[in-house]
Amino acid sequence: MNKEKTLTPKLIKKLWLAFALLIILMGASYIFITGYLTLNYNEAITQRMNADVANHVIQEKFENAAPFLEDGTVNKELFGDLMHDMMAVNRGIEVYLLNKSGDILYSVVLKHNENEPMNSVDLAPIEKFIKTEGEEFVLGDDPLNPEKQNIFSAAPFSIDGHEGYIYIIVAGKQLELISDSLFGTYFTKLSIGAMVLTMLFAALIGILSIWFLTKNLRLITHTVRKFQEGDLDIRIANPEESDIEVVALSFNKMADTIVENMDNMKSVDNLRRELIANVSHDLRTPLAVLKGYIETLQIKKDTLTELQKEEYLQITHDNIDKLSSLINQLFEYSKLEAEQVTPIKEPFSITELSHDLIAKFKILAEQKQVQLQLDNPEENYMVYADIGLVERALQNLIENAIKYTEPKGKVTLSLIKMGKQIEINITDTGNGIPVSDQPFIFDRYKQVDNTTKKQGLGLGLAIVKKIMDLHDTTIIVLSKPYEGSSFIFKLPAHQLQ
Ligand code: ADP
Repeated sequence: MNKEKTLTPKLIKKLWLAFALLIILMGASYIFITGYLTLNYNEAITQRMNADVANHVIQEKFENAAPFLEDGTVNKELFGDLMHDMMAVNRGIEVYLLNKSGDILYSVVLKHNENEPMNSVDLAPIEKFIKTEGEEFVLGDDPLNPEKQNIFSAAPFSIDGHEGYIYIIVAGKQLELISDSLFGTYFTKLSIGAMVLTMLFAALIGILSIWFLTKNLRLITHTVRKFQEGDLDIRIANPEESDIEVVALSFNKMADTIVENMDNMKSVDNLRRELIANVSHDLRTPLAVLKGYIETLQIKKDTLTELQKEEYLQITHDNIDKLSSLINQLFEYSKLEAEQVTPIKEPFSITELSHDLIAKFKILAEQKQVQLQLDNPEENYMVYADIGLVERALQNLIENAIKYTEPKGKVTLSLIKMGKQIEINITDTGNGIPVSDQPFIFDRYKQVDNTTKKQGLGLGLAIVKKIMDLHDTTIIVLSKPYEGSSFIFKLPAHQLQ
């Protein structure tokens, strides 16, 4: 047996996978953006806080002592003093004295890197900084770190004919090192924290939304499985409200069709059983009679008179006739039911056929003292149908009419032209068919009345019905108990050119 899959449908697995990927991507982007913004944010704050440092240096220091000595050289003492002050506050700070073109005239830094320091810096960021009075975040060259831009403070000066800038890198190499290591630790913590939180929330939302999205799918899967396990009455409730309405509706329809087909098959099966029971019963009776008479003929052949022998032989003959007619009927019906018969339609005279049949059944009718007649025998009506099949249907109907009509009764076959059709009507004055039984007489193997049972297999009218189906026409029965019955059907009239 197949291993029963308690499956999470593939779709749900795929949704989960897509969702997990989304969470990871979101987490990574979140960390990246946070990291980037935090860095910038820190730098912007540091710059803003230190925006005034350069101005301050000029105002505080250059007021008492000029940056240049009388011989035009840099006042190293002043800058040594300055360095001392600055370093006390921020060891990462770098102070530069620039001329008007950005060349570095003097620098005050803690020597801590091996890079060859730059000789001049780009003036554009410095001018922008001065113009916006440090309000705008701007990065400038870091002379100790040529490949890196850094935050700075700058201010212009013009003393004793010397013009230039004080350029201060506020977050120097040292600060950078500290910041890097601190940032590393904080960033790791932040990342892990953010990741865990994002994952938690996303997983929660994911579970809820996938659960919600796949609610209908799970319902359908459940219903289909129940159906497969044999619960044939189960259907998807309110399929119109389902997210996958088409699937839900189709399943319900399919389940209805399957159940309907199964019911049909069951009823066909039941009818077959009924037929086999009927057939064996109906064949057994004439066979038993045959066997009885043949045995009598064998045993008593010397004592029986010629007349008795003749009578016994006649009885065996009649029973053989009955048997062969039953077998023929059965054979004919099974061929029609298996749809092995294709009607060969052609124009023929239904009037002539009716005359022939009346003549054929004349003797049987006389034997039963039933009057058999054709109404309106002069008109010659042509129809377009399979003559063999129509003859078979008429035979069964006339035979039944004679069979179920008491002596002194009447059976009439009438042909009436109705537009482009010919109506054929077989009416008898027999014992009729109870109204409750009328809907079933065309069903296979149905015999209505107990008293008339054993007179046939109940296949006669079923054969007629099949022949009507093959001609795309219908047969109706009008009958009143003890007054008689009429069987009426129409065939297309053939127009004579
Ligand atoms: P059967 O071989 O039993 O005649 P049919 O299929 O020909 O089977 O008819 C089915 C049943 O319909 C019959 O058993 C009979 O009860 C009823 N029936 C058919 N034709 C007539 C009729 N002309 N008058 C009364 N009952 C009829």
